[in-house]
Amino acid sequence: MTRNPKLRIQNRASRRYDFIALGGGSAGFNAARVAASLGRRVAIVDGARDLGGLCIRRGCMPSKTLLYSAEVLHQAQRGRLFGLTIPRAAADMKALHARKVRLIADFAGHRVQQLTSGRYALYRSHAHFVDPHTVELADGTRLQGRRFIIATGSVASVPPVPGLTDVTAWTSDDVLDLAVVPKSVIVLGGGIVACELSQFLRRIGARVVLIQRSPHILRDHSPEASVVLQQAFRDEDIELFTDTRITRIAGAADGVAVTFEDRAARRTVTRRARHLFNALGREPNLAGLELAAAGVKTDRAGRVVVNRWQQTSQPHLYAGGDVCGPHDIVHLAVAQGELAARHACGVAGIAPIDHSLLLNVVFTDPQLATIGLRVSDLAAQGRRHLTASYPFNDHGKSMLMEANYGYVKVIAEPSRGRILGAEIVGKDAGELIHCFSGPLAMRATVFDLLRAPWYHPTLAEIITYPLEEIAEQVKRWRRRDSSRLRE
Ligand SMILES: Cc1cc2nc3c(=O)[nH]c(=O)nc-3n(C[C@H](O)[C@H](O)[C@H](O)COP(=O)(O)OP(=O)(O)OC[C@H]3O[C@@H](n4cnc5c(N)ncnc54)[C@H](O)[C@@H]3O)c2cc1C
Repeated sequence: MTRNPKLRIQNRASRRYDFIALGGGSAGFNAARVAASLGRRVAIVDGARDLGGLCIRRGCMPSKTLLYSAEVLHQAQRGRLFGLTIPRAAADMKALHARKVRLIADFAGHRVQQLTSGRYALYRSHAHFVDPHTVELADGTRLQGRRFIIATGSVASVPPVPGLTDVTAWTSDDVLDLAVVPKSVIVLGGGIVACELSQFLRRIGARVVLIQRSPHILRDHSPEASVVLQQAFRDEDIELFTDTRITRIAGAADGVAVTFEDRAARRTVTRRARHLFNALGREPNLAGLELAAAGVKTDRAGRVVVNRWQQTSQPHLYAGGDVCGPHDIVHLAVAQGELAARHACGVAGIAPIDHSLLLNVVFTDPQLATIGLRVSDLAAQGRRHLTASYPFNDHGKSMLMEANYGYVKVIAEPSRGRILGAEIVGKDAGELIHCFSGPLAMRATVFDLLRAPWYHPTLAEIITYPLEEIAEQVKRWRRRDSSRLRE
């Protein structure tokens, strides 16, 4: 997108604002939107060449666009399973790239329209703090604010892995911008971005080696879920190494060589590929903000420390999104921005973000989606809970879709059957998990959900099986409890 000089100056006669958003991405833009709707005089400062924020430009939207194309391709390539003959399904990378560019321009255009609507003063510059109430732009202009939100997002991190800085490594930005099929790629890391984009690369035709330090990929999820995904990846010929320690990364004649200890097999392994993709995580983008001048504290991981209202160590300075975490997830960045703005504007009756409703989706195939508390959380808290799960390879709709990986697991408390969490690994898990988000927010029980109608044959109706099993467990629990009381 070209820079439009008209975007630069709007509503900027006086440089004092009630609320200033540093960053116009998911957290900053939504904070500004709410503050403006509450009648405040608002400025947004964003130094990006192309406005729109990470989610739209280089995160969720481009990655999901490409992953969807890769999924369609994958289905076409296994057409025989469905009784179809599809002679030569392959990625047309130029067309795939062009489609992504077109869609992202459309999404970003909408955001740019909102940013330039005149409801906010928009400063297209990087900024840094001069004191707790003043920021300075690149051209020396100073803005004063009564309240601020720090929402400058995150950048790909480069951990101290031997040799990593000596070679050229892609970040997710590079993978999302590919217009050709790379011959081979070594992916470092086993987090969400690593897994999603490894599968994309493999499906478009690259040879992929994924090297992960932890014993499982997606280490923040249950080992059970990771094992299903690991199997799915291996079935697609992604060469997957877990439980490793990288000892050396070096340039090779036709690319890069990575040497690592394969701890489970007790051997040293070297893999070579044309390209290296550093997917080892992201870190808060705070360099150059001069947070010390504002008196804002960060934690050991470098994230801005916030309280439950998103206030930093300086109560008039708020933070939201990837700069503070604890999860790099867009709907949370939006919620944090909105909450910060409402709190800053003195709105009564607001509530902090309820982290017991944490919703997370990994857009691999099969997808992995979780909501609420995990079994490991409950075990760590010593809280009693019931679980039940049901596999997709025994469910009519998923079987006819040849979508046999994974399961649905429901977690509930034992006395009433209130649902505490759910984990779905399988086809469209990211959609299915929303069967639980309303009920969890409304503190529903398994009995409430079983009263709801479930259409046949759908993927969603699989959820009734673990619900029924938990309902039975709750009844048994109650019977045991009442006989204990009678004794
Ligand atoms: C490949 C990838 C895929 C992802 N997929 C998903 C997904 O499917 N679902 C999901 O929930 N999350 C996903 N995420 C994470 C999600 O994109 C982020 O959590 C979210 O976009 C962060 O929003 P933010 O407002 O914190 O930051 P951003 O949207 O990055 O906004 C920060 C803004 O601050 C500006 N800025 C930076 N420094 C300064 C400065 N000094 N002065 C002024 N402006 C500045 C930047 O230009 C930028 O516009 C993905 C991330 C990646 C990398």
